[in-house]
Amino acid sequence: MTNVDAQELAKFSEMAHRWWDTESEFRPLHQINPLRLDWIDERAALRGKAVLDVGCGGGILAESMARRGAQVTGIDLATKPLGVARLHALESGVDNVQYREIATEALAAESPAAFDVVTCMEMLEHVPDPASAVQACATLAKPGGWVFFSTLNRNPKAFAFAILGAEYVLRLLPRGTHEYARFIRPSELARWCREAGLSLQDTRGLQYNPLTRRYWLSGDTSVNYLVACRKAP
Ligand code: SAH
Repeated sequence: MTNVDAQELAKFSEMAHRWWDTESEFRPLHQINPLRLDWIDERAALRGKAVLDVGCGGGILAESMARRGAQVTGIDLATKPLGVARLHALESGVDNVQYREIATEALAAESPAAFDVVTCMEMLEHVPDPASAVQACATLAKPGGWVFFSTLNRNPKAFAFAILGAEYVLRLLPRGTHEYARFIRPSELARWCREAGLSLQDTRGLQYNPLTRRYWLSGDTSVNYLVACRKAP
């Protein structure tokens, strides 16, 4: 049944021990985290909320949302990143985050409408059926709840920046991290959201300057982008 690519999980498990090394291949996630965290918090007001982080990996976003006062559950299907996430939370004394190895669709069947906020960042481009993952995220949100996604756009510029640039020229990411065919156009994501009963509230681009090595949010969604949606009340 499971909407998962075992090779993708193996890739993330292999590098799991470096997840919290801010100079490793996870540097980009560490760098963009404050940007996306603020963007999410400004909309969904995380403090006191029940939050689900889908495809949480080693817990960079999940733990940071817990630090903002949310009660966070992180799920993933890769075992090693979850182990790293649990250990990191323990070491840093963050006790309002818990991690589970369970498929998004399975949790949606088990706990529909259980979360005020659902985040699913940098995961959709690694799953065989992203529309099913979007539907499951929508099911997991309470009526009126927020659902956030981020992924990579599919066009020649995204290929040049996210694959040639990031994996071959700048070597920010290991070769093979991303597969171009799995990138998602904002119009496709918007349609899956609509079909899942989510209404689009906001879309932002994420830009990178390789000279300054800085990221910022912008109106340019041509490569990396984030969307904020709400489930009908
Ligand atoms: N969301 C985190 C990690 C992104 S890396 C962040 O942005 O910081 C992508 C993550 O998606 C990895 O942890 C990988 O194991 C997970 N993943 C890939 N396919 C998945 C699937 N089918 N179900 C759940 N998680 C998956």
